Amino acid sequence: MTDTNSLDVSVSNDGERILCKAHSNEVCEQCHMDWTEHNALATTLKQVKDLPPPNAPNPVRNAQVNRLKEEGNKYFKQVNYTEAIRFYTMAVELSWARPLMSEKSSRLF
Ligand SMILES: [Zn+2]
Repeated sequence: MTDTNSLDVSVSNDGERILCKAHSNEVCEQCHMDWTEHNALATTLKQVKDLPPPNAPNPVRNAQVNRLKEEGNKYFKQVNYTEAIRFYTMAVELSWARPLMSEKSSRLF
């Protein structure tokens, strides 16, 4: 699994953003790269950790989100961005999918 050979990427000095290796651009037309979405995801995930849960916290789901996020971080450090993005995306989607139904049903007359 050495997909990353084809990816000429580097990580920003703060270690938090993916950039093209040749020009250190987040978006680079010459390298045909656009990491804005991934970098935004990574930023979002940092905030998710600190956000208080909006409704009743769901400990099972929160644990799942954290686990996915940690998997993503692990792959990120291994420079396996493809896998990192996959796990980050799953974590974000899961954390966005908080249950809103309970609030709605409690409003029924
Ligand atoms: Zn470039």
